[in-house]
Amino acid sequence: MPIRYNPYAQRYSLWLKGNLHTHTTLSDGELSPDDTLDVFLRRGYDFVALTDHDVIATADEARYPQILVFPGVEHSAQQHILRVNVTSTLPHDLSYQSVIDLTLQQGGLVILNHPNWGESFNHWRDSQLFHLERYHGIEIYNNVIEYLEGSPYALDRWDKLLSEGRQVWGYANEDTHRVLQIGSAWNAVNVRERSKEAVLSALREGRFYASTGVVIEEVVVDDGVYRVNTRNACELRLITLRGQVVERVSGSQATFFLNKASGYARVEAIGEGQARAWTQPVFLE
Ligand SMILES: [Zn+2]
Repeated sequence: MPIRYNPYAQRYSLWLKGNLHTHTTLSDGELSPDDTLDVFLRRGYDFVALTDHDVIATADEARYPQILVFPGVEHSAQQHILRVNVTSTLPHDLSYQSVIDLTLQQGGLVILNHPNWGESFNHWRDSQLFHLERYHGIEIYNNVIEYLEGSPYALDRWDKLLSEGRQVWGYANEDTHRVLQIGSAWNAVNVRERSKEAVLSALREGRFYASTGVVIEEVVVDDGVYRVNTRNACELRLITLRGQVVERVSGSQATFFLNKASGYARVEAIGEGQARAWTQPVFLE
């Protein structure tokens, strides 16, 4: 089956784990920027983005050379946009498309936050998700919405976009406000080296997976198969057009045949309790 785009075409042995959505005492977070880095480092994270509401936080990065730190901001207009790897805020009266495009010009990563936040599950409406262009992805999981109205998950919105052929990645972010959230969600990138540029490239190109507890050790998409090896999944599912589950395999690893999918193929790994991992879609001809 011919592949239109395969984010896992290149493979490296190194996986780095990070959180892209983090608040500190500069807005409504519990920890100072320095303490934030300290806790993430102790919990085994390799990178973290500091993304306070409409303010750029800085930390004493020299004290924590083992963790890669991205500056950033959560642009908190009526809807929220995560801008990672930028060093200045933008005014709220700009259109969302301008916010996206200016962030891209500045070398940033753009993620639309928690689409299903709110009692109507529509912090971002479908019409906005479809109308806006060039953002890298959406939060398919946001931990802080576990404590608020709406759903922390947005797999339904993701599958709608993917089913229309939109190349949009799915990120799992903590939206860390409290220490107890640290470790609840992450993105693991597959990279050639431990550098900010390598991490950003992987996040832009889709060479990562999103997780709430399942650890993926290998993703291979080649020769008509989509193979995923995990450390701790109980079941793997192949998902295609409109979110249909086309196959389920028990155990910690599975090899799926791409000819069972149409449009796109992605894999969900189901672990104990709420633990999940989501690989990125491979787009098919
Ligand atoms: Zn936030």
